[in-house]
Amino acid sequence: MEFEVLFFDLDETLYPAGNGVWEAIAERINLYIHQHLNLNWEEIPALRNQYYSKYGTTLRGLEVVHQIDTQEYLRFVHDIPISNYLQPNPQLREMLLSFFQPKYIFTNADHNHARRVLKALDIEDCFEGVLDVNSVSPYCKPQPEAYEIVLKQLDLTPSTQTVLIDDKVTNLQTASRFGFFTVLVGHNSSGPVEGVNAQISNILDLSRVLNDKN
Ligand SMILES: [Mg+2]
Repeated sequence: MEFEVLFFDLDETLYPAGNGVWEAIAERINLYIHQHLNLNWEEIPALRNQYYSKYGTTLRGLEVVHQIDTQEYLRFVHDIPISNYLQPNPQLREMLLSFFQPKYIFTNADHNHARRVLKALDIEDCFEGVLDVNSVSPYCKPQPEAYEIVLKQLDLTPSTQTVLIDDKVTNLQTASRFGFFTVLVGHNSSGPVEGVNAQISNILDLSRVLNDKN
């Protein structure tokens, strides 16, 4: 099997979880909810969990239930000092450039955040494009409609050999139903996971997985 197009999730896929980026964004999300919905801090985690499981992201829940201003929300929550957390990653850059396939970012964050992250890692020019949460509105991963929109936008057919690399099992499970080869990053599961074809602990292990299969 020869893979033709590679899709990469962004956050906690291209850099390891726990480095502070997501924690900083999560704090901004909490602050946004606290200010805009006038909720007590203690009530916020339950609300976010509820929206996350029902709508895929906190954002989609806030849009549906509270009709918030999406672009204002995206600007607000991603307003973090990114260079405090991310530095250029020459090894990652070298690996990405070694893949001959077109590469795209497919993220539930927005385009501006994706650009800042890619720039901080010095891999912005390694990708053909960014499919962000605005590109698949009003859907997001792991909703199947988001994948349909992305495949249609890039003019890909079901027979195209596509790969999704992501740190969220649910995102990969939908991709698997669309025929993607799926790679789970950052998990050390002891056994097989439904809908997941390969598991790696770090993104830099991706070349091993893809070269084995290609
Ligand atoms: Mg992620």
